[in-house]
Amino acid sequence: MTEERTFVMAKPDAVQRGLIGEIVTRLEDRGLKLVGGKFMQIDDELAREHYAEHADKPFFDGLTSFITSGPVFAMVWEGEDAIRQVRQMMGATDPAEAAPGTIRGDYALDLGRNVIHGSDHEDPGSNEREINLFFDPDELIDYERIDEGWLY
Ligand code: ADP
Ligand code: MG
Repeated sequence: MTEERTFVMAKPDAVQRGLIGEIVTRLEDRGLKLVGGKFMQIDDELAREHYAEHADKPFFDGLTSFITSGPVFAMVWEGEDAIRQVRQMMGATDPAEAAPGTIRGDYALDLGRNVIHGSDHEDPGSNEREINLFFDPDELIDYERIDEGWLY
């Protein structure tokens, strides 16, 4: 069993459109467990650090100004194969390519306004890095959920 944690964020467009609850509900319904959550405003320094891998891309400035343009809801979710499962539930980066039934495929049309971030299973360690960037260890709660025995 590969129990793991992944960093997820409802981006500013999701907050403005009232989609926080929808995103949380989908991840809860799947059986993933919320272990941390923070409603926050990202500053420019944190935006640049979080998206450092894209620093040399032409869309970097647009990306950092978008992610700092309004509050976000940052979360940590735990579960079996959580990193990859969340990515599958998110759908393709470009919502135009995202399958219906995925979060991006159901709620987004534009590449720059794609509603949700999730750590990348193709970038090992990105989950740990992002979790540590956004959360102090004491902001993550270890607890048993009563349905866990039915899921695993
Ligand atoms: P993901 O969010 O699926 O992990 P990436 O890490 O490749 O995708 O990119 C980070 C974010 O940058 C994307 O979610 C998207 O909002 C934005 N982005 C990626 N590629 C482009 C692009 N070519 N033009 C504009 N924005 C982009
Ligand atoms: Mg990425």
